[in-house]
Amino acid sequence: MRPSTKPSAAPVVSVVTPAYNEAENLPLLYAELGKALDNEVRWEWIVVDDHSTDATFKVVAQLAAKDPRVRGVRFTRNFGSHRAILCGLERMKGECAVVMAADLQDPPEVVPQLLAKWREGLKVVWAVRAKREGVSPWSLMMSRLYYFMMRRFVGLKDMPAEGADFLLLDRRVAEALREFHENHFSVFAMITWMGFPQAGVVYDKRARLHGTSGWSLEKKLKLALDSIVSFSYQPMRLISGLGFFSVVGGGLWLAAQLSEPAGLGEDWTRFAAVVLLVSGVQWMMLGVLGEYLWRALDEARRRPRFLIEESTE
Ligand code: UDP
Ligand code: MG
Repeated sequence: MRPSTKPSAAPVVSVVTPAYNEAENLPLLYAELGKALDNEVRWEWIVVDDHSTDATFKVVAQLAAKDPRVRGVRFTRNFGSHRAILCGLERMKGECAVVMAADLQDPPEVVPQLLAKWREGLKVVWAVRAKREGVSPWSLMMSRLYYFMMRRFVGLKDMPAEGADFLLLDRRVAEALREFHENHFSVFAMITWMGFPQAGVVYDKRARLHGTSGWSLEKKLKLALDSIVSFSYQPMRLISGLGFFSVVGGGLWLAAQLSEPAGLGEDWTRFAAVVLLVSGVQWMMLGVLGEYLWRALDEARRRPRFLIEESTE
């Protein structure tokens, strides 16, 4: 009997998978995990169903009934994959966790390489995408822009430039994550910010096997804003800077106009354009402040980050 199937032996690695409408992919991923890990390490698999509309939870329950290493929970509503990852990490029994998507874009064969780095003493090991199959040039560009901004503008320099959502983290990192109580966050940005020793292992990200991406443009935009607002006050600094230059520039221009014999009011259309422009900038500034204010209010409510509808245990 393989050591990994002994229910008494605690797992070394807990694979955590957020899943939204992944009923077709989960059995295949389970088989691939077995192939890649059974002879390597004792493992368990925690699948968090982010309130799928297909049979995802039924599939997880069937797998769990067959194999005690598989556990699953289902959210009461779609809370997003980052909260699902946190939920899985709260339930881990292993000494380390590997976070991977359900759609087989992240190959389980990479996990032993991540484990090797962890055994060298690293606390966070990113699986860094070299090639990305099946991604449109537009998505690729937006993703590059996001990670560039996170590294340069927000200041999280350790975030892999190529982007990463497949990683290993030590139990200590997962426990430290429980100290964070915020509701609007990127779990990957939070892990980078914590500052544990990190490294990367390069792999080729495959195309999604079945189904479509659960990340709509709206969800991506929300995540980008959350990532900036929760780690940076640069947008507010930018606003102050813009305001300062606007006041100085406007004052100088007004002085120049007043010294002319024709004075103000001759070309009112140009004046109207300036008013529109300035008020537009001000609305944008209010919007930026609103992003911070709304998040501060929402955090003050201290609502739970997720609610569980059912679980396989
Ligand atoms: N996911 C989730 N909730 C969502 C959207 C996605 O739990 O609202 C899961 C999804 O099932 C997958 C992982 O998060 O396991 C990554 O999402 P996806 O593959 O759809 O995103 P992409 O690869 O296109 O960035
Ligand atoms: Mg995917």
